[in-house]
Amino acid sequence: MTIQRISVLGAGTMGHGIAQVAAQAGFRTTLYDIEQTLVDAGLNRVATNLDKGIARGKISQEAKSATLRNLCSTTDLAAAAETDLVIEAIPERIDLKRQVFGKLDAAAPAECIFASNTSSLSIAEIGAATGRPDRVLGMHFFNPVHIMALLEIVVHDGTAETTLAAAHDVAAAMGKTSIVVKDVPGFATSRLGIVLGLEAMRMVEQGVASAQDIDTAMELGYRHPMGPLKLTDLVGLDVRLGIAEYLHEKLGSDAFDPPALLRQMVNDGKLGKKSGQGFYDWPED
Ligand code: NAD
Repeated sequence: MTIQRISVLGAGTMGHGIAQVAAQAGFRTTLYDIEQTLVDAGLNRVATNLDKGIARGKISQEAKSATLRNLCSTTDLAAAAETDLVIEAIPERIDLKRQVFGKLDAAAPAECIFASNTSSLSIAEIGAATGRPDRVLGMHFFNPVHIMALLEIVVHDGTAETTLAAAHDVAAAMGKTSIVVKDVPGFATSRLGIVLGLEAMRMVEQGVASAQDIDTAMELGYRHPMGPLKLTDLVGLDVRLGIAEYLHEKLGSDAFDPPALLRQMVNDGKLGKKSGQGFYDWPED
């Protein structure tokens, strides 16, 4: 099926960025959140991103205007459901995602495709909350969405080929490179990224090297654009702890057992950039 309209659920860190790239790619895009102030904050972030793009010479004023023309907002889930593709970017809680997908299923046209931007949760479990699991898949974007080139597409056993094909087409229109991964906990990206981050924390715990030196090792020795501990600070230590606990439970490997240092830092409110302190100090910009 041809996708012309996209609704994005959740106007936070990921949702506003997904709505931006959808609108920029020419889709008629609706951004939904539970309160108008949250939707407005998301729309403001899109406008700010576009202004920065103009200042850097990446996009034109006309492209900004066209993007904003393609973008509207709502706090009415039934209105958001009137679309061809829903991309959900609400908090990483399986109960909440299943509840929202169930409501969407009742309101959306039968042919509408549902995608989740979850970083680790089971797409099959989310899809089972609907009567259309063949039309459910994962579309895992990366932060910041308007800059990061990857889209990890996650298919469960019941995802239809036509659903996957539609996701590929949308990714291409958004200028993203897509990879296809099976619906296993953590998919490809979170599973590998978390292992590296947790092992780096264990090395800090054991006094092997400083956080800075471990990051420099990976940046200069392995050409990672950013070391695993700085990346943990950007993602949020609480977010990484949640994913590690989930993967430890589901995959049963000690590689995912959260180090005591991570638990202690989260307890102390050292959540990374968003709290001003993590493995690094983050003065407000
Ligand atoms: P966020 O907290 O920044 O935004 C979530 C938004 O969802 C909030 O605006 C909140 O008001 C809204 N929301 C809450 N309940 C809702 C509901 N019932 N219906 C609609 N909206 C609701 O979270 P985020 O960082 O954007 O993460 C969203 C999803 O994306 C999660 O599944 C997360 O794992 C995934 N993800 C996050 C990142 C990242 O770097 N932050 C990267 C990839 C994937």
